[in-house]
Amino acid sequence: MVQIIKILPEHLANKIAAGEVIQRPAAAVKELVENAIDAHAHSVTVIIKNGGKTLIHVIDDGDGITLDDARLAFHRHATSKISTYEDLENIQTLGFRGEALASIAAVSQVEMKTKHHNAEIGVKIRCDGENTIKVTEESYTRGTSIQVKNLFFNTPGRRNFLKSELTEYKHVYDQIQRVALSYPEIGIKFISDDETVLQVQPSSQQERLRVLFGEKLADALVPFEERTDILSLTGFLAKPDFARKGRAEQYLFLNRRFILNRNINHAVFQAYENLLEKGSFPVFVLFLTIDPKKVDVNVHPSKMEVKFEDEGAIYRMVLSTVRKSLSMHDLIPAMRFNSTQRLGSLDDEFKSPPSSRQQNPSANWKELFRSASPTDKTILKSDSPTVMRTATDMVHGNLPESIPAVFSEYSSVEEARDKYPAWQIHNKYILVSSDAGMMIIDQHAAHERILYERVIARFNQKEPHSQQLLFPQTIQLTAGDSAIVKSLFPLLENLGFTLKLFGPTTVILDGIPTDVRPGEEHHILQDIIDKYNEDEFTVKLEPRERLAKSFSCKAAIKSGDPLKPFEIQSLLQQLFACNIPFVCPHGRPVAIKLSLAELDQKFGRTS
Ligand code: ADP
Ligand code: MG
Repeated sequence: MVQIIKILPEHLANKIAAGEVIQRPAAAVKELVENAIDAHAHSVTVIIKNGGKTLIHVIDDGDGITLDDARLAFHRHATSKISTYEDLENIQTLGFRGEALASIAAVSQVEMKTKHHNAEIGVKIRCDGENTIKVTEESYTRGTSIQVKNLFFNTPGRRNFLKSELTEYKHVYDQIQRVALSYPEIGIKFISDDETVLQVQPSSQQERLRVLFGEKLADALVPFEERTDILSLTGFLAKPDFARKGRAEQYLFLNRRFILNRNINHAVFQAYENLLEKGSFPVFVLFLTIDPKKVDVNVHPSKMEVKFEDEGAIYRMVLSTVRKSLSMHDLIPAMRFNSTQRLGSLDDEFKSPPSSRQQNPSANWKELFRSASPTDKTILKSDSPTVMRTATDMVHGNLPESIPAVFSEYSSVEEARDKYPAWQIHNKYILVSSDAGMMIIDQHAAHERILYERVIARFNQKEPHSQQLLFPQTIQLTAGDSAIVKSLFPLLENLGFTLKLFGPTTVILDGIPTDVRPGEEHHILQDIIDKYNEDEFTVKLEPRERLAKSFSCKAAIKSGDPLKPFEIQSLLQQLFACNIPFVCPHGRPVAIKLSLAELDQKFGRTS
């Protein structure tokens, strides 16, 4: 009989393994930087080209590799970090699986130069993606330099799977940011397409946060610390006002390794309960230190998932520690209103606690507009003093009137009054009576649809609708976000943003689209980028369409915004003028119809 089972040749096995370890340039960067840290480097430089697709170059000043070890380093399961089962149970290094270099070499062209700190002369190693590893002596100063060219050149399936250069760049940046957060004592430099994106000197944790997050956020971080016999928990919590619309700014480290763990993240989220508005997520950096024997990091090749011996205990400890430090810093509201009965439609206003309500821009845009004459509506004072409003004011109905800017440009609304018999319910839905029956409209989704169509039209007209800000806003972005702003620059201008890029991560905002609600100008850009980022994983769209969606979602009136009768009319008019009025840009329904026939049937009427 013919034998049909055979052992795969090593280079093929490596290619298969590479699929699990190295999914994209960022994964290669992660592995190489981890190797540098394991080799006790004090400084690491990462250089990439084209989002890492054509080049990833990592240079460190660590221990280096000897000639003999160099021959082995690129073989699968070759590692200097563990040798026994006991070692596997007690991992002290970032690497231990011995497969990163083999995987990288299987799918790219690699050249490594290194000199072991005890060796006389250095070594050069070349791998060409096939089975050959060439090792020669060559002089080299110190540490290790590894160049990875044309990742996935021999695995087109994987190569085609890669996203745009910008997206890959952003993933690389995220990896570097994580390392920078957890290893403040290491100097890190990151150069992308010849531009220095990040350069940080060895520093304290606080200083590192300042450089990575910017002064404003760093100042708003509350440090915390809790140590028990089995674990230590330290980190920084951002005040609720800094909450973000996504989970991207949540950093969890276990024994200095960035990990993903929904449970622990949830514990933090839970501790912030009631301090955050719906749909917001806290920003935090959390370092867990546990005896390596009590955790298993060998769950997945990426080493980002871990198993804890007692996850429940860790959950409870994170929850109580975070709660405690939040309350110590007086972020928890003194007074909470939960009774929907008593407060009626004001209830939504009260769901956000006083601490965030004072900062809540929706409270002051209303105020701002009440006093504004129609002509100065286009000039917004961006740093308007926050209007403080006592709870009694609100209970007694001294609520500021609402005149969203979005409707102010429609002067014909007066005539349109009562054109559609309509009512707003729960500050959320609009009931409209029509010849054929009735309709329930989701006000946010409706406005989103209107703005979306308007923005798409604007992109085609190329004539921006911008309102000048009285005081330009200086906005600090992460390098990843600022790359997005750069790439969307012409589209953002079309939309009505007037921006200047200032330095690698600072944006100066002079003007915003006319549709943006007053008071939101501080964060509309960041909100749009957050949403834009979020959509990357859920929808496959052209940038301009994605931007139009993110913008309309973030600029639209929200559920909870009270509307005046003429605003309701204006909204309906604009909605019915849309090309596709009844589906929001995200595909959810805008309206639900109920025909007279259906109503009659429900009431058992025959006519
Ligand atoms: P692992 O990190 O899991 O051990 P790798 O494939 O990443 O596996 O690396 C294989 C070995 O090569 C490491 O165990 C280490 O001895 C050596 N090595 C890799 N990169 C470096 C570096 N930058 N400096 C010193 N030694 C390195
Ligand atoms: Mg490694």
